[in-house]
Amino acid sequence: MTDIYRQLESGAWADPDYFVCPCRGGWLLSNFDSFHRCPFHAEGDRHPEDDSEYTEEEMKLSATYRVRMARETFKHYDRAARELGIEGFKVKVIDAFFATDEGLSREERFCKAAAEVVAKAAYEAREVTARRKGYSCGFEMTMDDEAMWERKERHLYG
Ligand SMILES: [Zn+2]
Repeated sequence: MTDIYRQLESGAWADPDYFVCPCRGGWLLSNFDSFHRCPFHAEGDRHPEDDSEYTEEEMKLSATYRVRMARETFKHYDRAARELGIEGFKVKVIDAFFATDEGLSREERFCKAAAEVVAKAAYEAREVTARRKGYSCGFEMTMDDEAMWERKERHLYG
């Protein structure tokens, strides 16, 4: 229990993408009924069980909160795109935007599109690495990596 609690408190479960993160707006409610602050999306230090009246300042903050979080999410993917060397990232995002679910908010659609462009490029980069290493595809390389770890573990503990 304490180990799980420590892991929950560490925030290792959090995802920088606001729309994917299990915190749903700042705090994770665990199976043990405990709240854990999200390292990316918790606004201020107000605990979710604190039900005192919100000040006008806090109301103003929460109105722009979602937009700000969406912007942070987009920046996160923009950085990832630069690391992967994706050319014309924003144009690709706009193309992908039109394929996203129209029922979602504009911000969420942009972030989803950005996530897809990054995921696709990451997948392609992995395929290139796999071919360079002599595998037929990335999946084969993953299977081989896992088999290697299994062999190492068997050697250590067998
Ligand atoms: Zn979060």
